[in-house]
Amino acid sequence: MADITEKREGEFFKDVLKYFDRAAKFVDVPSGILDQIKYVNSVYRMRFPVKIQGKYEVIEAYRAEHSHHKLPTKGGIRFSSAVNQDEVMALAALMTYKCAIVDVPFGGAKGGIKVSPRKLSAEEMERITRRYTAELIKKNFIGPGIDVPAPDYGSGEREMAWIVDTYAAFFPNELNAMGCVTGKPVSQGGIRGRKEATGLGVFYGIREALSVKEDCDKWGIEPGIAGKTFVIQGFGNVGFHSAKFVHEGGGKIIAISEWDGAIHNPNGIDPLALEAHRNKTGSILNFPGSENVDKYGALEIACDVLIPAALENQINKENADRIKCKIIAEAANGPVTPEAEEVLNAKGVYIIPDIYLNAGGVTVSYFEWVKNLSHVRFGRLGKRWDETAGRNTIHVLEEMTGRAATDKQRSIIERGADELDLVYSGLEETMINAYHNIRNEYHGTPGIPDLRTAAFVNAIKKIAQSYSTLGVWP
Ligand code: GLU
Repeated sequence: MADITEKREGEFFKDVLKYFDRAAKFVDVPSGILDQIKYVNSVYRMRFPVKIQGKYEVIEAYRAEHSHHKLPTKGGIRFSSAVNQDEVMALAALMTYKCAIVDVPFGGAKGGIKVSPRKLSAEEMERITRRYTAELIKKNFIGPGIDVPAPDYGSGEREMAWIVDTYAAFFPNELNAMGCVTGKPVSQGGIRGRKEATGLGVFYGIREALSVKEDCDKWGIEPGIAGKTFVIQGFGNVGFHSAKFVHEGGGKIIAISEWDGAIHNPNGIDPLALEAHRNKTGSILNFPGSENVDKYGALEIACDVLIPAALENQINKENADRIKCKIIAEAANGPVTPEAEEVLNAKGVYIIPDIYLNAGGVTVSYFEWVKNLSHVRFGRLGKRWDETAGRNTIHVLEEMTGRAATDKQRSIIERGADELDLVYSGLEETMINAYHNIRNEYHGTPGIPDLRTAAFVNAIKKIAQSYSTLGVWP
């Protein structure tokens, strides 16, 4: 199987500009304001030495803040050997549009550290993360009201805990220090539900798309996730949780692809069993019942929904014409290049764009930040009150009917919402509303080519509103 990775370094931000320009034709905003929105406001490129295996190594890292139309700016930190300035800028821009689409009141940002976490020990990762945080502090590129990082490719709760600890050490009197980063462990100021949020949001988004009968008729499939076939690229945090929720929703995952190879099983793969297998063996390969296949070949297996949940540029002009799915659900940022999109649009493949579909992560990051600033867990005040109200309702009903409620009825009515219930409920509401907003934009705007353009139009209109105080348009 030919390698389909294309050398596209330096192209990603241009891709985002292309998407932006295509959408800008459908909005009535002065061109100067459009320019203000589309380019990156500030980029901090840093180099710092860290001791790795006894020797000093110079680490190259970035933080890009794309738009300050709302503060703080927000976006993850990527740890990858492929990090470069163009990539960080593109990802920061996507964050701006993403936040606008799901009505999260942040500007977009993104960080990147050019290292390969798989080759580093925990201590080395800690040294790099803490030093990176100190660099951000020096230049005022981090803070609860300035710029708030989060996990991204190659980082997770552990790194976020080091960041908040470093930040709090520098600012011991900062009451809101916890809000300087999201995606923290629950024990360090995190919120329940953040870890699975992007994958759960991906699931809600696909479920919503598959609930519209008119669209399903066009794709020639029955509405609903149950029974649909899925191929997933990436089994990291986003890929794993997308797989888990799709599987629980009755979807059949027939192939999963990772950095070291892919597995295929037409009868379906159980993501939890696969996770256990990987924990034991260190790889998804050689999973009992599945066949090992080529990692790029897996993307070309016929299925209803293909979920790229790894990196950008994965579906490009080399492989686009061999993709055989009805829907591409972009869980990763920028997985489909503009050239590939043209081919796929012509083939009638429906692309649910990243700037909508993977916004579940930043949505729950917003809830975490609000929790940190309010210094109280969601549900703490209301849960018991709701439970008492439920018990009172049962009591009144029992008195009125003369019949006792069953234990099952009691447990349904008596249950008060805890933090996880509220986070899931807020996320579900956000993903459903945003889907119909962009779909309505798509169907309601004559000449608009696809759902991605509609999503950009929706975002640009909202961001432009932030500049309307300049008095240049209503
Ligand atoms: N890195 C994630 C993204 O690309 C999450 C960002 C955040 O929570 O701030 O959307």
